[in-house]
Amino acid sequence: MGLHFTNKQDPEIEDIYEEALSQTQLPKYSLPQQSQSPELIAQLLKDELLMDGNARQNLATFCSTWMEPSVHDLMDVCIDKNMIDKDEYPQTAEIEARCVHILAKLWNSPESDTTVGCSTTGSSEAAMLGGLAMKWNWRAKREAQGKPADKPNIVCGPVQICWHKFARYFDVEMREIPLDGDEVCMNPDKLSEYVDENTIGVVPTLGVTYTCVFEPVETISKKLDELQAETGLDIPIHVDGASGGFIAPFVNPELKWDFRLPRVVSINSSGHKYGLAPLGVGWVVWRDKEHLPEDLVFNVDYLGGNMPTFALNFSRPGGQIVAQYYNFLRLGFDGYKGIQSSCLQTAQWLADEIAKIGPFDLFYDGRGGLPALSYSLKEGDWGFTLYDLSDRMRMRGWQIASYPLPGNRQDTVIQRIMIRHGVSKDMVALLLEDLKRCVDYFKQFPQVHSGATSTFHHG
Ligand SMILES: *Cc1c(COP(=O)(O)O)cnc(C)c1O
Repeated sequence: MGLHFTNKQDPEIEDIYEEALSQTQLPKYSLPQQSQSPELIAQLLKDELLMDGNARQNLATFCSTWMEPSVHDLMDVCIDKNMIDKDEYPQTAEIEARCVHILAKLWNSPESDTTVGCSTTGSSEAAMLGGLAMKWNWRAKREAQGKPADKPNIVCGPVQICWHKFARYFDVEMREIPLDGDEVCMNPDKLSEYVDENTIGVVPTLGVTYTCVFEPVETISKKLDELQAETGLDIPIHVDGASGGFIAPFVNPELKWDFRLPRVVSINSSGHKYGLAPLGVGWVVWRDKEHLPEDLVFNVDYLGGNMPTFALNFSRPGGQIVAQYYNFLRLGFDGYKGIQSSCLQTAQWLADEIAKIGPFDLFYDGRGGLPALSYSLKEGDWGFTLYDLSDRMRMRGWQIASYPLPGNRQDTVIQRIMIRHGVSKDMVALLLEDLKRCVDYFKQFPQVHSGATSTFHHG
């Protein structure tokens, strides 16, 4: 026979799982000495990543988990573009500026062609920048009046953690108006107890993370108008539109929450949430140039000109920005409207179906806020808590958040399901079947908790 087998195979044709590294654990605490083949390492890493949840079934997140193939292509083309380097990559810088103006216009800035704004890593960085601008403006005003400027505070409803970070990192007192009774967001009637001459701004959230509702920015603005008429205090508003900034303009065009309200000085939103861009991009836009204090801005040379920059980061990938612009051009207003409306309809349908199962009280039914739904467990002996249900749904890969409400409502535990681009009605119908199966399972095999009642108390 011409064929000759030996024990020692040519490494080029060896099966990946036969190689020595496949028969050990991967190094975890020190850099290995030797190089390895890229295919081997990539495969072993992909295997490890299987331990992560499946992002598409993660209904706890607001972030994009599905992208068109063209976005993958563009991200690849942009992998080496550093958005901070305006001189080397002037076209990426130009595209970033176009996105800012498009958003300024979408949010009804009176000076959308000339106003300022920038991309960020997400809404968290955008919130820091919006907060800093308000702090600087407040301080300048206080100093001009010869008044002390050492005790700034910021007033908000149940905000996302980034605002707590802003307050702590930049030495601003956080005054979070707590939820009471059956409140699901900031109650504007309570504002006057919280704001004073040291308030740098009020931050309503368009799409509260806990309850998914839009805080009533227009009413909040009116309350601050009344306060100004009584006391002379002129307190600005920054809207945290992390999610709602890409929902309301398309599906609630009549809702006044943006620069149509003169008191709104700046707005942030997450491109990587309902902006439909890949992870890693947020936006902050000021109503006009005057609202961004000049000494926060650094000027960099750019195509023989000068480009103002305001950011906490330096180097950052340009791909997300390009993908954001792609979505703007590819989808247009109608495309965004279609996607967001279909997410809302899916959320409403699922909410209605879940209400029919029996044990659940709808808390938010997907109407009037973000494309999402939430529910609590009715009083009764159902054999499970919402935490048990989250765990059991995880067996089929679904990730659904259960958590207590913030403020003075921590006795209420809810379960929240986010519907986003790429979460189809068919997928959601499968989820519904799984949810019913879980409820039946717990009927047959009730969970026992020491001292458990129908609601589970956190911590
Ligand atoms: C998600 C979110 C944030 C933080 O945004 P990132 O883009 O994740 O940094 C801030 N505020 C609200 C209301 C959010 O939903």
